[in-house]
Amino acid sequence: MSSLPTVAPRATPSAPAPALLPRLLGLIAGAALLAAPLLLPDFYVTLLNYVGLYSLVALGLMLLTGVGGLTSFGQAAFVGLGAYTTALLTTGPWLGSLGLPASPWIGLIAGLLLTLAVAVLLGSLTLRLSGHYLPLGTIAWGISLYYLFGSVDFLGGHTGITDIPPVTLPGQPLDDARHFFYLIALFVAAGMFTTHNLLDSREGRAIRALKGGRVMAEAMGVDTSRARMVIFVIAALQASAAGWLYAHMQRFVNPTPFGMHAGIDYLFMAVLGGAGHVWGALVGAGVITAARQWLQDWLPRLVGMPGNFETIVFGLAMVLVLQRARHGLAPLVARLLPRRHAARRVDDHAEPLPRRAMPATGETILEAEQVTRRFGGLVANNAMDLRVHAGEIVALIGPNGAGKSTMFNQLSGVDTPTSGAIRFRGRPVAGLGARAIAALGMSRSFQHVRMLPAMSVLENVAIGAHQRGRRGVFAAAWRLDRDEEARLIAEAARQLRRVGLDERMHAAAGTLSLGQQRIMEIARALCSDPCLLLLDEPAAGLRHQEKAALGELLRRLRAEGMAVLIVEHDMDFVMGLADRVVVMEFGQKIAEGLPQQVQQDPKVLEAYLGGVA
Ligand code: ADP
Ligand code: MG
Repeated sequence: MSSLPTVAPRATPSAPAPALLPRLLGLIAGAALLAAPLLLPDFYVTLLNYVGLYSLVALGLMLLTGVGGLTSFGQAAFVGLGAYTTALLTTGPWLGSLGLPASPWIGLIAGLLLTLAVAVLLGSLTLRLSGHYLPLGTIAWGISLYYLFGSVDFLGGHTGITDIPPVTLPGQPLDDARHFFYLIALFVAAGMFTTHNLLDSREGRAIRALKGGRVMAEAMGVDTSRARMVIFVIAALQASAAGWLYAHMQRFVNPTPFGMHAGIDYLFMAVLGGAGHVWGALVGAGVITAARQWLQDWLPRLVGMPGNFETIVFGLAMVLVLQRARHGLAPLVARLLPRRHAARRVDDHAEPLPRRAMPATGETILEAEQVTRRFGGLVANNAMDLRVHAGEIVALIGPNGAGKSTMFNQLSGVDTPTSGAIRFRGRPVAGLGARAIAALGMSRSFQHVRMLPAMSVLENVAIGAHQRGRRGVFAAAWRLDRDEEARLIAEAARQLRRVGLDERMHAAAGTLSLGQQRIMEIARALCSDPCLLLLDEPAAGLRHQEKAALGELLRRLRAEGMAVLIVEHDMDFVMGLADRVVVMEFGQKIAEGLPQQVQQDPKVLEAYLGGVA
C-alpha cells in the first residue's frame, strides 16, 4: 500500500513542528481556485466544473480501488442514479402529489437514499466475489443500470429528461456556471475533508488494511467485510452526489454519460491520481479532462479526419500508467513539493482505555481436544490435545513442517479444524472465526510478519486496539472521534514503549528490521488487551540482546497473569523461559512436560536429531 495521509501535523515532543511552506502553497492553490471563475472565460469555468464533478467520483474510487483494492468499473451508474433521481423528481408530478415542492434539495436526499439502498444491495451481492470476479460484477451492474436508464419510458428513453430546474439557494438560483462552480467546490472540499479524516482514524486503519492485510486485520478484530461495504457505499454516495450536481448543471440528462465508457474513465482518473493523497483525485480528474479536451481538438486535425482518436490515446496512456506509475501521479507531484512532516501526535495524558478482567492465574483458558486439520491427503494436525493456563508460558516446538503454525491457525480462528474441539475461556470456539476469538481475548503474531509496510509503526500497532474503540465512520469523517482516537493512539504508543520500540513509532513499518517487525507484532497483539498471546517464532531474526529483552518482557507478562503460547526454535531461549513444553512431529504431539523432562525424552531427541542420539 502506498503512503496515506496522516493527521495534520502539530507540534509535539516526539514530532517536529510542521513546515509552513506546504500550508502556504495549499492556501495559495486554494485561493487561486476560488478566484478562477472570476478571472477565466466561460469555457474554462465550465471545464473546471466538470473537473470538480469528476473528481468527486474519482475521490470515492480512490478510496474503493486505490486504498481498498476493490476495482469498480460501475461508478458511472451511480452517477446516473443520482442524476436521474433528481431529474425525475424535479420535473415530474411526484413531489407535488405528496405536497412537497419540486426542490433539487429533495432530489439530492432522495438520490442519496436510493443510492444507499442500491449500493447495499449490489455490495452484498458482489463484494463477496474475489479476484477478477468483482470487477466483472461491477461491469455487469454498470451495464444493467445504463440500459435501464435508456429503455424505461418514464425516464425518457435515449432522449432523456429535459427542463431540470436549477439549484436555488435562498433568493439565488444557481443557473450560471460561475455560481455553480462554488457549489461544486463545496462538495469536493467536503469530500476531500471527510475522506482525509476517515483515512486517519480507527475505521480508516481498518480500510487501509483491506489491501493485503485482511487476515491480520480479522485476527485483530476488524470486520473486514463491513469495511469493504463501507467504502463501497461511500464511493457510491459520492458518485451519486456528483450525478445530482451534473443534472442541475446541465439541466438535462440522457443515458450516454453514465455508460461503461464513463465508468472506465473514472477508474482511469482514480488510478492516475493514485491512492496516496486525497488531492490525487483532483489531479487525476484534471489531467484527464484537460487532456481529453485538448486531444479531441487536435488529434482529428493531426490525423486529417474526424474521429474519437483520443480514446486510443487514453487506452495507451492507461497501459503506460499501470506499467510505469503504479501509484499514480500524486506521489510524483508530492515529490516536487516540500516534504510535509507526517508524524502522528501522541497525547500521553489521554485517558487509558478500559481493560478486560483477567482470568485467575492457574485457570485453564485454552483447551484443544483431538484437533485435526487435513489439507487434501496431508494431515497437518493429527488429534492434537493442548492446554494452556493463565499465567503460564507454554512452548510448542518441533521440526519444520511439524504443524505448529497450522495449530496456531486452528486455535486463533484464522483456519477451521477438520475435526476436534477448542475451548477458550470455557467457550467452544472452533469455527467461530478470528474476529470473534480476538474479541474474547486471544491475540497473536504471525510467523511471516503481517503488517502494512507503508503505514507507520504506531498506526500498525493501533490496529490491534480496533475492538477497544466504538466510534464509527461518520464520527471519523467529521472529526468527532478525536477523544477516542487519542486514547487508541496513546494505547499503541504505550505498548510500543512496553516492548521497547517507541523510538521507531513514527517510522514506516516496512523500514524496521525483521526482528523489530516481530516485536511490533507483539505490541500490536498486546494492544487488544489479550489474556492469551500466541507468538509464532517471535525470536527469529532477533539479536542476542533483543532476545534477552523479549524473554524479560514475556516473563513480566506472565507475572501479570497473561498466558503465552509460543513457537520457537531457539532451544536455549525456550528452555529458560517456558513452564511447559509440547513437542510436535508430523502433526502429532510426541511429548509434553517440563523443559528438562522433554529435553531428555528419546522420542524428542530422535525427532530433532533424526535418530542419531
Ligand atoms: P510448522 O509451523 O511446524 O513449520 P506448518 O504448520 O507451517 O508447520 O505446516 C505443517 C504442514 O502443513 C506442512 O507440510 C505444510 O506444507 C502444510 N500446510 C500448511 N498450511 C497449508 C495449506 N494452507 N495448504 C496445504 N498445506 C499446508
Ligand atoms: Mg511455522
